[in-house]
Amino acid sequence: MSAGNSARFRSPVKKQWLRVGEEPLWEFAARRVLAEFEFAKTIVTATPAEARIVRAISDYEVAEGGETREESLRNALTIVESEWVLVADAARALTPIEVIARVLAEKGAADSIAPALKVVDTIVTEDGEAADREKLRRVQTPQLSRAAALREALAAKSGFSDETTLIAAFGGKVKYVEGDELAGKLTYGGEIAPEAPSGAALIGQGFDAHAFEAGKPLRLCGVNVPSDFGLKAHSDGDAAIHALIDAILGAAGLGDIGTLFPDSDQTYKGIDSAELLARTVEMITRFGFKVLGADITIIAEKPHLEPHKTLMRKNLARLLALRYERVNVKATTTEKMGFTGRGEGIAAQAIAVLGYHN
Ligand code: MG
Repeated sequence: MSAGNSARFRSPVKKQWLRVGEEPLWEFAARRVLAEFEFAKTIVTATPAEARIVRAISDYEVAEGGETREESLRNALTIVESEWVLVADAARALTPIEVIARVLAEKGAADSIAPALKVVDTIVTEDGEAADREKLRRVQTPQLSRAAALREALAAKSGFSDETTLIAAFGGKVKYVEGDELAGKLTYGGEIAPEAPSGAALIGQGFDAHAFEAGKPLRLCGVNVPSDFGLKAHSDGDAAIHALIDAILGAAGLGDIGTLFPDSDQTYKGIDSAELLARTVEMITRFGFKVLGADITIIAEKPHLEPHKTLMRKNLARLLALRYERVNVKATTTEKMGFTGRGEGIAAQAIAVLGYHN
């Protein structure tokens, strides 16, 4: 289960995309379990926006997540074919293998089996009435359930945050085995000290070109450049930012600008490319990447770009939240050769360096 929105999680990185080395948490969690036990099928739930990336990274089947964990589970169950299903949370990535083994060993003993812990804190109601903590348990995951029982219960009832309570409320038999504090759920950030993310530098490059269009404002690196010609495009035509976005996406292994912001989509008509860059940076941040630096070359016979380079650098550094010297903007001509040389348009190349961060 990895389709949450990390609403309570205090980090710019989404919980399931925290990096353990280079692996996002969901991949780390799945790989750990699969190294020890064999399953007929592995299904990862992911938000619709992330499903494409999860599919690209892994060979697991992907079920699109819904608004709630329950809805995501319902979607995942449509592709479960086995009699039993083990439901595990990416947010409990450090669950000891012995806990999972204890759950799996009880297969057949109940309709749903889960790890649980006794309560050590005093539990009270709002009015200060003490609960009998001897009778209370903190339920953890993974939970092993009969797939048919789970489907039936989910079709009839809703509002449960785990499978055992759902199945028990539907009249099924549940069983608890000894849980472990290490199976705790990463909820707010800071509960577990995740292994430091990899210090690897990821490099991506991008290229873009647009033809001149008379009477349109010319924008490069998000800066208005005085010119009789702008650049013909679905957006504002900022070829330098488009090349930079492709370089960033390339370094993150997240595809290209055309996939992310298709020009068949009317919402991007005439859009400020600085806004597309902001959205790209926001997305890669949530997936556990950060931009460390960028170098851009603008190839144009006209207009003369030299007087605008400093402002372009400053603007890109601001958009990327980087120091000035981590961004460079260069301008060159092609000595009258080719389409840029003939003054038909402008091309741009970019290289971006990214790192992992949590
Ligand atoms: Mg473009």
